[in-house]
Formats: sequence, C-alpha cells, structure tokens
Amino acid sequence: MVAEIICVGTELLLGDIVNTNAQYLSKELAKLGIDMYFQTVVGDNRERIRVAIDQAFSRSDLVIMTGGLGPTKDDITKTAAAEYFGKNLVFHQQVYDHVKKKLDSYGIHQISESQKTQALVPEGAVVIMNPVGLAPGIIMGGGEKAIVLLPGPPKEMKGIFEECKKVFISKLTNRVIVSINIKCKGPDEMPLSQIGESPIADLLGDILENENPTVATYAKEDGVLIRVTASGNTREEALTTMKPVVMKIADILKDKIAWVKEAD
Ligand code: ATP
Repeated sequence: MVAEIICVGTELLLGDIVNTNAQYLSKELAKLGIDMYFQTVVGDNRERIRVAIDQAFSRSDLVIMTGGLGPTKDDITKTAAAEYFGKNLVFHQQVYDHVKKKLDSYGIHQISESQKTQALVPEGAVVIMNPVGLAPGIIMGGGEKAIVLLPGPPKEMKGIFEECKKVFISKLTNRVIVSINIKCKGPDEMPLSQIGESPIADLLGDILENENPTVATYAKEDGVLIRVTASGNTREEALTTMKPVVMKIADILKDKIAWVKEAD
C-alpha cells in the first residue's frame, strides 16, 4: 500500500500558511505502516489539481487530499477527483441538511447557491459528515485506487481523517510500525566532538542506509537522538526485525548512550 498526499491551496504555495496538514497526515500514515514516497502542494487551479491527481495515481494506490472543498472555490478538489473516477456530482440530502443547520446556527437563514454546492458529492462516494464545519469528507474508489478528500482547516481535517481511518484506511493495511529512540549523552556529559550528530553518524556508517528498520539521527540540544523504526505484520515481528540493529548500535556506541525507549 503506497499513499500520497496532495494539499490544495494557493496560500500554501505563497507561504502564507504552514502545511501542518501534510505533517499530521504523514505521521498518521506512517503509524499505520502505509508507505509514502511523494507529497504535492498545488494551488487552487482545477487543471493543475487534475494533473496532480493523475500523477499521484500513476505511482500510488491511495491519494489523500486536503483543502479546496469550500464553496468559495467552486469545490474544485471535489470536481477534479470526481472527474478522475468518471463520476457525476449528485445532491446529498444529509449534507444539505447539515449545511443548512450549521448556517442557521451562525444566524444565516438563506442558503446561497454556492453554499448549496457543498451538498453535491461524487456519485457512489462514502460521505463523512463534518461535525465542526460544513464540507464533508469524501472517500471514493476501493482496494485498487482510492481517494480521500478532507477539508483544509486542520481541526476539521483531523476529525474527519480519524473517521476515515476507522471506516476505510485502517482496513487497507495491517502493517504495524514500531520506533525505538536511542538517546546519546548530552554535551554536559561528553565532549561534542564525540557525541555530536556527525561523529555519531560516522560511527553508525552504513546502518543509516538500512531500509527495515530505518535508522535516523536527530541533533537535539541535550544530545543526539537516534530513531530506529521497523514495520511488520505484528508488533512482535517489527520488534524482532529491529532487534539486531538496535543491538549493533548499542555495541558501537556503548557508553555514549544515555537511554533507550520505545517512541510514542
Ligand atoms: P473552507 O470551507 O473553510 O474554505 P476548504 O476545504 O476549502 O475549507 P481551504 O479553503 O483550502 O479549505 O483552507 C481553509 C483554511 O484551512 C486555510 O485558510 C488554512 O487556514 C487552513 N488550511 C488549509 N490547508 C491547510 C494545510 N495544508 N495545512 C494547514 N492549514 C491548512
């Protein structure tokens, strides 16, 4: 299972907002053991969004998109995704009622034409209602190729992603990811020339090129952190896969290690 993220929004391209949605989704997918090799940011432009979707599906099975679902942008994400799957947009009564109720609660009693487009969803799609905002989450496709559309605002995106994970995404994979943190001693305990990131990376050598488990170093103020991450069909399998590498690192670094703990 290979997934890819497309974040839609000209604000992202201009640097007006930070792409925290991509960060959140990347972590969540990694926890599910879903591989990801590419992420795309594309502006609010229908043609370019279509190209981004085509390209993503040429190399990935699952595409997760955030943003561009609001009525102000003519729902271009939704339209482009529906076009990819050859589906028409159809009226969804439950979404319409939800939008109407939400707008009522904001004191808006007249639903505009553009607001009405929120109630259009691709034919046959699974619709995940949005308890916080207006635009629902949408899941299209199945085992071979699937797309998940999430609203841009992070709070809405997270809630709907959680629901999509429960009803769909977690069923696509049963891989489990486990990470172990190995903390090296800090500069107050050992000279930086011995426990800085470069000396540690030099000592680890080819281990840093490993694929399963992967091994990465992070320079922290209180000492270098080494993260060993393995995937497996079960937690036990992942732990067994990483064990020889953790032992090898322990053997190389010996008294430079402050502690070893499983990551959250
Ligand atoms: P809305 O109905 O609110 O317009 P939308 O799905 O169309 O929702 P956008 O208009 O693309 O979403 O984005 C709305 C807001 O959500 C942005 O102004 C920004 O604050 C936030 N947002 C969008 N995309 C991201 C992202 N990738 N990372 C962090 N925040 C984002």
